[in-house]
Amino acid sequence: MFFKRTKYERRVVLHREVLDSILSYCQMKHPNEGVLILKGKSKNGVITVDGLVIPPFSNSGPTFAGFPHSFLPFDMSYIGMVHSHPSGPATPSVTDLHNFFGLVSVIVGFPYEDKSVFAWDSGGKQIPLEVGS
Ligand SMILES: [Zn+2]
Repeated sequence: MFFKRTKYERRVVLHREVLDSILSYCQMKHPNEGVLILKGKSKNGVITVDGLVIPPFSNSGPTFAGFPHSFLPFDMSYIGMVHSHPSGPATPSVTDLHNFFGLVSVIVGFPYEDKSVFAWDSGGKQIPLEVGS
């Protein structure tokens, strides 16, 4: 028996006000990394982000922002993380992939504009990102 698997076109949809909050948070944290939890839902390959949570026990420095996942409450609406790269390209580092959380990792590069924002999966592959209203 062979089943043909339906392949969905994956993408990440960020609400406009969520994107604005991410960008101002990253600007505020500069030159350190900022890290936030993404809230939302995933359906048919479309990851919709409609909220943000400041992670508990977060520690951030100029090169790494992280928090122990075990401190996170179990919440199905936590679908990923966003963090900034104050001095590097918005591509995931090896550390980022090792600390992958959820379905998507959004990385914001300097100077924290709309076009500095990229979404990645746990394998380091880029996921198309669009801004919804
Ligand atoms: Zn990083």
